[in-house]
Amino acid sequence: MKFYNLKENDEQVSFEQAVRQGLGKNQGLFFPENLPQVGDLTALLALPLVERSVKVLYPLVEDSLSKDELTEIITNAFNFPAQVQPISENSAILELFHGPTLAFKDFGARFMAQCLQHFVKKSANQNEKSSTEKITILTATSGDTGAAVAHAFHGLANIDVVILYPKGKISLLQEKMFTTLGDNISTIAIDGSFDDCQALVKDAFDDKELAKSIGLNSANSINISRLLAQVCYYFEAVAQLSRQNGDKPLPEIVFSIPSGNFGNLTAGLIAKAMGLPIKRFIAATNVNDTVPRYLATGQWQPHETIATISNAMDVSKPNNWPRVEHMIKAGIVPKESVSSSSVDEEETQMMVRQIAKLGYISEPHAAVAYSALKHSLNEGEFGVFLGTAHPAKFKDVVESILGQPIGLPKELADCASETILSIDMAADFAQLRAFLLK
Ligand SMILES: *Cc1c(COP(=O)(O)O)cnc(C)c1O
Repeated sequence: MKFYNLKENDEQVSFEQAVRQGLGKNQGLFFPENLPQVGDLTALLALPLVERSVKVLYPLVEDSLSKDELTEIITNAFNFPAQVQPISENSAILELFHGPTLAFKDFGARFMAQCLQHFVKKSANQNEKSSTEKITILTATSGDTGAAVAHAFHGLANIDVVILYPKGKISLLQEKMFTTLGDNISTIAIDGSFDDCQALVKDAFDDKELAKSIGLNSANSINISRLLAQVCYYFEAVAQLSRQNGDKPLPEIVFSIPSGNFGNLTAGLIAKAMGLPIKRFIAATNVNDTVPRYLATGQWQPHETIATISNAMDVSKPNNWPRVEHMIKAGIVPKESVSSSSVDEEETQMMVRQIAKLGYISEPHAAVAYSALKHSLNEGEFGVFLGTAHPAKFKDVVESILGQPIGLPKELADCASETILSIDMAADFAQLRAFLLK
């Protein structure tokens, strides 16, 4: 399977190249040239997560990985479950936060890390004599991404990770989740905003000489490998629902997705296009509502980003949207299968309380998705909303909304007592460049 550049259609690359490059020419996103159908669905759904995921992804990556190699990669990457938990008679949450950093980003980041590690090892074996290839992952984070990337790449040979974050602008617990690992993970507290951090990353990628000499890769959510990994948990959710359903036919399934950069939505649409029976998707945003406004008016008009309590979705220029748009325009998924709505802060808080009344502690991102689902679900449909993060990751907000303390899971309690290893740096590219070349 080739992956082609959605902006420069002549650029076609292998899976390996798409993973290594991240973006194509002219900042174009890579997309599979076609989406193979999965075949016997009943048999597929009956398989365990790892085996099923290998079956789903193999046709997409077979030019770069053997089935055994893919199996090893997925076994290492998906070493934690995705779990469907019932919430009400016609809805359930898909818990995606049982990985090492308690957010769904662990699935994509770990799969990408294992793929890159495999490709680096392979090229090291091929050129034993010449110098070993080096890869440097450089990424800016305001929280979740940095943690998932740091944990996913920690301890992998020949890959260095450098994470920039705005000093003093993320919670202490968030900071501790990625700054305490050490080894091949360097973290830099930038004296500036998140935008300053992103600008520094962009400067580094624009510096072609630097990028080439240290093998720069951003590991962000535009990397196709992260999306392919996420396709697998939609299959897992439907597999669990059909198991829970026993002999009864599956209801019409609607997914509601708390959306920021729209990677999760893209992965869900790919799953549907490959033959997974999902009726439709609701892309739920917070007040950063570029997409719902676009679908209503046809005008793409991003506003200034607004800070909210569902801060992982504070995005006004969602970078995966061109993939969604492509799938709709090319008829890969029906236009009617995607709707989008925006949920304000007050409603989000109310929903966290309402879900708690149903006996489940959630957090603001899931609550945004639940709200959009509740307002849209029809007779005969069954709704699944994504639990993208563990509530303890947003402990302060959740405690203040619910007026009750919530416990810290082991992963968070462990890192809370560790020492922060990050260094401080001005928002100055010359200094960052010198650090990267060291
Ligand atoms: C990243 C993130 C999102 C947004 O996901 P996208 O794929 O970027 O739309 C939602 N919730 C949480 C907790 C996240 O970390």
